[in-house]
Amino acid sequence: MLAPDRRNRLSVDEEDRNPMSTQPSRPRQRLFARLASIALTVAATVAAVGAIAMPARADNFGGCYGPLTDQGCVPDNFNHWYCYDESVGTINQTFRTQIVAAMVYLHDNTSYDQFFEPNGVCNAASDVVWQVTTAVAPNRGDYACLTFNSAGRCEQARLRLNPNLLTDTHNRRKTACHELGHSVGLAHGQFGASTPEFYDDCMRTGPVNTETRFQQLNLHHRTHANNRA
Ligand SMILES: [Zn+2]
Repeated sequence: MLAPDRRNRLSVDEEDRNPMSTQPSRPRQRLFARLASIALTVAATVAAVGAIAMPARADNFGGCYGPLTDQGCVPDNFNHWYCYDESVGTINQTFRTQIVAAMVYLHDNTSYDQFFEPNGVCNAASDVVWQVTTAVAPNRGDYACLTFNSAGRCEQARLRLNPNLLTDTHNRRKTACHELGHSVGLAHGQFGASTPEFYDDCMRTGPVNTETRFQQLNLHHRTHANNRA
């Protein structure tokens, strides 16, 4: 949950508004489910983009309760409401553009829908809270599930991007895609690997070149996300 004093610091940014004309009303019971889940909140699972190479392993999915810590948690549903938390760092237009592009990519290529919170202001029900902050150093970015519902699904995830280490467009986009991938349950799989830590999409770790594939999720990862398994 975000502290109340962190919720109202964003200026209106019409340019970032979701192009979708309609947004679904949010089920009232969802708030109660969230409130009930607060007590179940556990330590955040943090996945560092720039993490040290891990041993070879199977391509796990949605196992944020397991022994591995770099896996994303399956979210509560397919509606991904996102917002900008500027309490820890300004999210300038350069980053907003890549965040929006990553959200639209997810919407267009998976079963997930993306919705922009009014004026981008985060609230307790926001699914994806974006931050641009050097606090994530020495990592390029990271992911954490902040709150879980009673079914163990992630109610709210925090995605952080490091402005000091994401200094070009394609790496900003790659890391936005990467952390967003964690928010739909993806881990650092090794599908398509020629070496244990090589991935042919944005779920690989570390800096990338300008190839488009590093700004996207491969079919294997999209299938995982859509099947939620
Ligand atoms: Zn990661």
